[in-house]
Amino acid sequence: MACNVAEEVLVVGSVALDTVHTPYGECTDGLGGSATFFAAAASFFAPVRVVGVVGEDFPMDQLRFLRARSVDLTGLQIARGRTFRWIGHYGTDPNARRTLDTQLNVFADFRPVLPEAYRDTAYVFLANIDPALQLEVLHQMRSPNVVACDTMNFWIEGAPGVVMDVLRSVQIVILNDAEVRQLADDPHLIRAARKVLDMGPEVVVVKKGEHGAFMVSSDRFFTVPAFPTESVVDPTGAGDTFAGGFMGYLARTGSLEEGMLRRAMVYGSAVASFAVEQFSVERLKTLTYSEIVERCRMFRKMTAFEEEEG
Ligand code: AMP
Repeated sequence: MACNVAEEVLVVGSVALDTVHTPYGECTDGLGGSATFFAAAASFFAPVRVVGVVGEDFPMDQLRFLRARSVDLTGLQIARGRTFRWIGHYGTDPNARRTLDTQLNVFADFRPVLPEAYRDTAYVFLANIDPALQLEVLHQMRSPNVVACDTMNFWIEGAPGVVMDVLRSVQIVILNDAEVRQLADDPHLIRAARKVLDMGPEVVVVKKGEHGAFMVSSDRFFTVPAFPTESVVDPTGAGDTFAGGFMGYLARTGSLEEGMLRRAMVYGSAVASFAVEQFSVERLKTLTYSEIVERCRMFRKMTAFEEEEG
C-alpha cells in the first residue's frame, strides 16, 4: 500500500450504529455512519483523521480495524448519552431505501472541534451533517488544498442558504442523483449537475447507486459504471465508501488533474462495489489493496472498446 507519500485526509461526519433490513437478512446495531465508511475506504490510500461523536454506549473495540490502518481517531468525541442510530429498509431495488428511524442522540448536540494537529490537513471531506457545522469545520482549517462535501434532502429543504454557502467554499461536491435534481430544481440530471457547478464547485460528482457515477466540470465529463457485482447484500454506506476511495486516491496523488480525477472515480467505484457485498463494514475489514487494484483492472477491461476503422 503506497500511503507513505500521501497527503492526509480529514473526514467530519457521523459514526453510527445502523440497523438494516434487506431481502438477504438483517443486521442490528452494526457499525455505520458516513465518517466510518469514508475512513475505512480512504485508509487504503492515505492517512485518515476522523472528527465525529459517539455515545458512552459505543463499542469502541469495533473501531480497532480502523486504528490498525492508521486512521487517527483523536477527533472522535465520546459524549454523555447514546450513539446516533439509523434504521433502514431495502426491498429488491437497492437504490430505493426507506429510512425507518433516525435517532440523533449525541449527534443532536455535536459541535465539531478539530484537534490542533488536524487543522493543517490538506484534503477535507465534509460528510452529510448540518451545513452550518460544515462551515464551522472550514473556519477551523488553515488552508486545505482540496475540500469536498456531501449533503442530503433534509438540509437542501431546511437550510438552502447555508448549503449554498458550503457549495461556494468547496472544490468538489459529491452527491447522489436525487440530491442533485433537488438542489438544481431540475429533473434532467446532466443539466442539473451543470447547474450545481454554477453554484460554486469546480467538480460535481453524481452517484447513481447501481447505475454508476459521473463527474462534470466546466469543460469535462466522465462516467463510470457500477461494478456488476452479483452479490449485493447491504447497499448502506456505498456512497460514503465511494467518496472515501475517491478522496483517498486524490490525496495519494496530490493532484486534481483530469487523469487523476478519472482514476479516483474508478477507485471510488471499485471500493464501493466491495462494501455492498456484506452488512455494515464487514467486507471493508477483510478487503485488501490488491483486490481493489484487480477490480480497477476489470473496470478498464469492461469499458474498453476500439473505434471502427476508416
Ligand atoms: P450512504 O448509504 O453512503 O448514503 O450512507 C449511509 C450511512 O449514513 C449510514 O451508515 C447512516 O448511519 C448514515 N446516516 C443516515 N442518516 C444520517 C443523517 N441524517 N446524518 C448523518 N448520517 C446519517
